[in-house]
Amino acid sequence: MTGLSFDLANELATELALMADADKRAAHYTSGTQERRVYPDTPSLAALVGFEEVLPDVGLPADSTIALLDGLGSPATVASNGPRYFGFVVGASLPVASAAERLMLAWDQGAPLAMASPVSAAVEAVAARWMVDILDLPRGSVVGFGTSASTCSLSLLAAARRTLLLRKGWDLDRDGLFGAPEVKVVVPAKVHVTILKALRILGFGASRLLLAPCDVEGRVIPKQLPPLDDMTILVLQAGEVNTGEFDPFDAIIPAAKAAGAWVHIDGAFGLWARASTQARNLTQGVEQADSWTIDGHKWLNTPYDCAMAICRHTDALAGAMNSDAAYASGSAAAQKNLTLEFSRRARGIPVWAALRTLGRAGVEALVDHHRSQAAHLAARLRKGGFEVLNRVVLNQVLVRAANDAETNRIREAATQTGEVWFGPSVWEGRAAFRLSLSSWRTTDADVDRLADILLSLLAEGDEA
Ligand SMILES: *Cc1c(COP(=O)(O)O)cnc(C)c1O
Repeated sequence: MTGLSFDLANELATELALMADADKRAAHYTSGTQERRVYPDTPSLAALVGFEEVLPDVGLPADSTIALLDGLGSPATVASNGPRYFGFVVGASLPVASAAERLMLAWDQGAPLAMASPVSAAVEAVAARWMVDILDLPRGSVVGFGTSASTCSLSLLAAARRTLLLRKGWDLDRDGLFGAPEVKVVVPAKVHVTILKALRILGFGASRLLLAPCDVEGRVIPKQLPPLDDMTILVLQAGEVNTGEFDPFDAIIPAAKAAGAWVHIDGAFGLWARASTQARNLTQGVEQADSWTIDGHKWLNTPYDCAMAICRHTDALAGAMNSDAAYASGSAAAQKNLTLEFSRRARGIPVWAALRTLGRAGVEALVDHHRSQAAHLAARLRKGGFEVLNRVVLNQVLVRAANDAETNRIREAATQTGEVWFGPSVWEGRAAFRLSLSSWRTTDADVDRLADILLSLLAEGDEA
């Protein structure tokens, strides 16, 4: 082979040295998460132009590639794997989940089916069982490990449509969609944008969707639900992205099921409330749905990317996602038949590692910890003069100041300190910001620091 120097002993030594260097750099990065600026400063961002090289004709030394990535890359990271990142609901990365992921990457084997990687299949089967158990969903539900809630919801919505059509005698796989009976889709008015994206990809145009009106907390109002029938897919939310609220499942799902509808739950982060004795009542009745999406990379604090598609009806998901080939005919419920991916890393391994290390009690403690931090933060902000827009039932605190300009000024000034970061939102047509508690690294002192910063910025506005 040209270009590759095949002195094997030398290659192996180089590989090990390179890995050791990367491990050392990663450890250094991780050990600095406590003090790191949360959002990179202007010089670090400007230095990113250093990556703008021409594609080299002759390859450059591998160690220089890692050094460049660390040298320019690490200072320009957003420290979402740190204690004071309150944006979105991203979680950090649990040490054991990151460590398991590193070992899994060294294995570099795909996890489409047991033949390709017996160990991945074995561990993911356990992770799947534990997920159904900890979420207390119908036993025997199937779990596909995908890249994101976006793709997992896409595959489950595809399964829903195919199943409703099959029940009417329409074979989607053979005859496609042209001339097929119409499938209706009902989504909450406050549906997450990634559900809209999934529906769009599946061919449900925005103007055809039926919106279920929501109350001031962002929950679907059962009495105002559009009519449901046996050709309807109904999407509900466990954890509205701004307020962290839950649709009233018990008031909706039994009737929806009786009408023959397919009920899908977007539980990207909120479904973890099932693991907490205190929070569980928020999810009452969610187990009656047909399918559920949940992320690992948000509240469970696994590394990116990691999500799960959970379906009560194995055949429905395995049929919709089937990718059996003569050379790769797995069992019906092989992972490649449960998600969009064929080749993929064993995303279930970090889930397994996190659940094994936290145990039931640890997951519950994680959820309760963030809920109590959110309640504390909301109380301090309210007392200090902010308007907290939601009831704060979970881990999301939605906040605004006297007017849009003040809200935006405070958010920008707070994030410029480098000590904290969180993003803007819009609620009922007005500017707001959303503070998410979801990192295992966030201490109560970090939460108080955030409150101190926000309250002092609010006071500055009052003086001006
Ligand atoms: C984050 C989120 C999603 C999308 O999840 P990804 O894993 O980023 O694709 C969907 N729904 C809700 C409620 C979310 O919070």
